[in-house]
Amino acid sequence: MATEQRRRQIAAGLSAARERIAAAEVAAHRAIGSVELVVVTKTFPADDVAVLVELGVQHVGENRDQEAEPKSAALSGADLVWHFIGQLQTNKARSVVGYADVVESVDRLKLVGSLSRAAADLRPIDRPLHCLVQVCLDDQPGRGGAAPNQVPELAAAIASAPALVLGGVMAVAPLDADPDAAFSRLAEVARDVAGAYPGADSISAGMSGDLEAAIRHGATQVRLGSAVLGYRPPVG
Ligand SMILES: *Cc1c(COP(=O)(O)O)cnc(C)c1O
Repeated sequence: MATEQRRRQIAAGLSAARERIAAAEVAAHRAIGSVELVVVTKTFPADDVAVLVELGVQHVGENRDQEAEPKSAALSGADLVWHFIGQLQTNKARSVVGYADVVESVDRLKLVGSLSRAAADLRPIDRPLHCLVQVCLDDQPGRGGAAPNQVPELAAAIASAPALVLGGVMAVAPLDADPDAAFSRLAEVARDVAGAYPGADSISAGMSGDLEAAIRHGATQVRLGSAVLGYRPPVG
């Protein structure tokens, strides 16, 4: 169980984050409540996730299967939507499909195939796996994501897989570049996807450092870790 002090910390972080999102929605002339918060719980214990659940959080994000699988099992009774947001090896697809409701980091055809087969085997027919195409907004790929010109074929592959649902796109802003330029490019890619696949209109963009820019450019979902849960030691 989390200590009382930790509970207070998380509650404070969460309300500050919700206020930041609301202020960004107002500044962007968007409806309050139109941007969904996914709290990124990577490196934080299951006890922290339980506190988030008590505080009304419904969406959580994890980026490593080895960590996410036991954490989701520890919270199996909770009404949570698990988002997988990390680079995903095809040999981990089956495991991830066992607990994740959304995979945001779909960036190659081979992965679509693995997710599609696993979802067809493991998921009830009325609970397809939601997938976002991760778009690389960097000139130097390496942190995952498909080049913008590869997005149409990935979107088509997801949309035609019976056990998958195409939700939209996701991106991480490049490290040393202007997030506004990156998110504006993402918005163009997202427009094409939603134009071709009505309903595939989710845009997952914005982290603790750049959520305002993401919301300015149409993010429907932000992924916040440190802004809610505090300092996270870098992983080696
Ligand atoms: C860790 C992570 C986040 C959250 O980052 P913060 O800066 O802590 O908000 C969001 N998206 C992805 C893909 C991540 O890996």
